[in-house]
Amino acid sequence: MSKLAYERPIINKINAGVPDKYGMQTQVGSIPYIDEIPVEKLLSEYGSPLYAVSEKIIRRKYREAHKAFSSRYPKVQFAWSYKTNYLDAICKVYHSEGSWAEVVSGFEYDKAILNGVEGHHIIFNGPDKSEEDLKKAVENKSLIHIDHFDELYMLLAIADSSKERPKVAIRINMDTGIHPQWDRFGFNYENGEAWNALNRILVSKKLDLVGLHTHIGTYIMSGAPYAVATSKLIDLALRVDEKFNHKIKYLDLGGGFASANTLKGAYLSGKDTCPSYADYADAITNTILNSELDPNNLPTLILETGRALVDEAGYILGTVLANKRLADGRRSMIIDIGINMLFTSFWYDHDMVPAKPKSQFTEDTSIYGPLCMNIDVIRSAIRFPSLEKGENVVIPRIGAYNMTQWLQFITYRPNIVLIDQEGKTHVIRKKETMDTFKAQEISPKYLG
Ligand SMILES: *Cc1c(COP(=O)(O)O)cnc(C)c1O
Repeated sequence: MSKLAYERPIINKINAGVPDKYGMQTQVGSIPYIDEIPVEKLLSEYGSPLYAVSEKIIRRKYREAHKAFSSRYPKVQFAWSYKTNYLDAICKVYHSEGSWAEVVSGFEYDKAILNGVEGHHIIFNGPDKSEEDLKKAVENKSLIHIDHFDELYMLLAIADSSKERPKVAIRINMDTGIHPQWDRFGFNYENGEAWNALNRILVSKKLDLVGLHTHIGTYIMSGAPYAVATSKLIDLALRVDEKFNHKIKYLDLGGGFASANTLKGAYLSGKDTCPSYADYADAITNTILNSELDPNNLPTLILETGRALVDEAGYILGTVLANKRLADGRRSMIIDIGINMLFTSFWYDHDMVPAKPKSQFTEDTSIYGPLCMNIDVIRSAIRFPSLEKGENVVIPRIGAYNMTQWLQFITYRPNIVLIDQEGKTHVIRKKETMDTFKAQEISPKYLG
């Protein structure tokens, strides 16, 4: 038997995707339907690009998350984070599931009221609450989460002239072992500021201290920081009880759970690294149950999860505008979905697939949006099959933040449809038109 000839190994630089032990995966999936409605039909009816949100997925994810917590802990309340997606129809789905509202501005507060949320089921967070906002929230018996001492002083003054005793919590920031540590919101735990704020509130006797709140960050990739956060809130609750004989009614652990999207620069896909709701629930509820808190008078556990509930329910559908070769020979594709509609493409490598199944022949491709601007990059490198002008693409898991942080830039914002549980589609936000702009803009007379 002759010896095999030696062949030198070849090292290939990988520009896109994650190899497994067989090398690079080349097959790209497809998403022909959203809740059994053909993507092509949606686009021909409502225009391209189009946001589509699945009510079925919203409800399924909500119930999964709620069950993960309520099966482990007796008193659980979710509050929908308005800024994550404050389209009225979406908020109403969450409210119909029993979710309260979590708002961070006067605008969001008014939206929650108009959506029929009772005042005492609105949690008012954020650093920017005007005197007018606070007065309204006090009248409505809303839960005001104080962010800083200036807000505390304003609230104490409002309490003097109001017949309502304001219901308050303080937001607390802390070291939970994650970096960067969010320390710009609320009162710090480690340096004693949070304890100081609690003392001022309780000594004043003017405010009804009902809760303790923290929101440690967003896209937190493990349960462990939540265990740390929970134990620090509990420490304060116990000290308040000991010193003032005052019981804290709820602990609000905020949001921050990750979704299955992949962060830019991450080695593994978000689908492989995203903790389950159960992982977060274990960390939080174990810490409460094993603590020194009175088991007969446990606080309600509030969660303000945004991203991890709604991301998966949202899709953006679009169309290929052109294919091009770049100067260095790389393939590029221009689609009608730009970063103006997909703000999250700044920090995620969004999955993107053709609407129709394609062959396994793929090539590293740069995907650009339609904007006349160099930073309009949806994916700088992705293995992608060849699509012709006019063919459709789908970007899944875009329900969080894109429909609130979007930019009106160069063109109109598109239609948004909700697909209900029976598979019927409803436009829940109309495409902008020239009239949208005419309604807002005013040219001084002398300019004609
Ligand atoms: C944004 C925000 C949330 C929701 O955060 P997610 O990371 O989307 O879960 C919850 N609470 C507060 C105070 C927030 O600012």
